[in-house]
Order: sequence, then C-alpha cells, then structure tokens
Amino acid sequence: MAMKTKFCKDCKKEFQQDSLDRFQRRYCKECSAERKKAYENIHEVTFEECED
Ligand SMILES: [Zn+2]
Repeated sequence: MAMKTKFCKDCKKEFQQDSLDRFQRRYCKECSAERKKAYENIHEVTFEECED
C-alpha cells in the first residue's frame, strides 16, 4: 500500500489515492461521481452529434 494525499481539482478537498493505482484520480470520490453523472448526461445529450 502506498497511499498518498491528493487534492481534488474540483472541490480542493484532500483524498487518498493509492500511488500504485494504474488509474490516478484527479477528483475525490464525490466529485468523480458527480462528473461521471454529468458526463453520462452530456453523453446522452450529445450522443447524436459526437459518436465515437
Ligand atoms: Zn472533490
């Protein structure tokens, strides 16, 4: 375990991130959940405009 403290780019709160984790998060758990939700909404809205 190699936990390190990072600061969320969104709310500036501290959160713990395993530095060995392949996916390095830039947002805390709350914000990434929010962003995921927002992304899904955006994706839904723009689905016909930007297919990939
Ligand atoms: Zn946050």
